[in-house]
Amino acid sequence: AHNHLNAKLVLLGDMGTGKSSLVIRFVKGQFLEFQESTIGAAFFSQTVSVNSATVKFEIWDTAGQERYHSLAPMYYRGAAAAIIVYDITSSDSFAKAKKWVQELQKQGNPNMVMALAGNKCDLEDKRNVTAEEAHAYADENGLFFLETSAKTAVNVNDTFYEIAKKLPRA
Ligand code: GDP
Ligand code: MG
Repeated sequence: AHNHLNAKLVLLGDMGTGKSSLVIRFVKGQFLEFQESTIGAAFFSQTVSVNSATVKFEIWDTAGQERYHSLAPMYYRGAAAAIIVYDITSSDSFAKAKKWVQELQKQGNPNMVMALAGNKCDLEDKRNVTAEEAHAYADENGLFFLETSAKTAVNVNDTFYEIAKKLPRA
């Protein structure tokens, strides 16, 4: 039997970490050096096949600015999955990612599949967050962790495929 699943997925994280760029890389296979910042939130959808199932992701790409914070629950409520994004060149963005994880642990769907994405891993020379500390944090909190680059496409599709594999099957 071929299962079909619709899965609401939300991207959360500081402004400028590359949330929109990750989605656009995944959905369109493109990257823009000057990605326009997101106002409020943007919606995308993309279908992937894993094992014997197809998963249609309904993706909410949020803005990340503090002034939109009160809107965030609208996007993560009922979400089957979340990708929390930080920028490996910014310790502040890593701290912010941890805040989002805490908020989801308190207010989100308890079965939510959560991924932590350390984006901009192409900028190794500007790195400020080690993979080791992020990995340790992810393990402690039951998230799965990948370093990604929307620019070079490293681990971008893999992040979504891993989520698709981990979603509970109806
Ligand atoms: P958002 O605010 O989280 O949606 O971030 P954007 O997707 O708008 O990206 C912010 C800036 O970072 C843009 O100038 C992007 O081109 C750049 N950017 C995004 N992802 C990457 C990446 O993986 N590597 C590099 N070098 N730049 C990136
Ligand atoms: Mg954006």
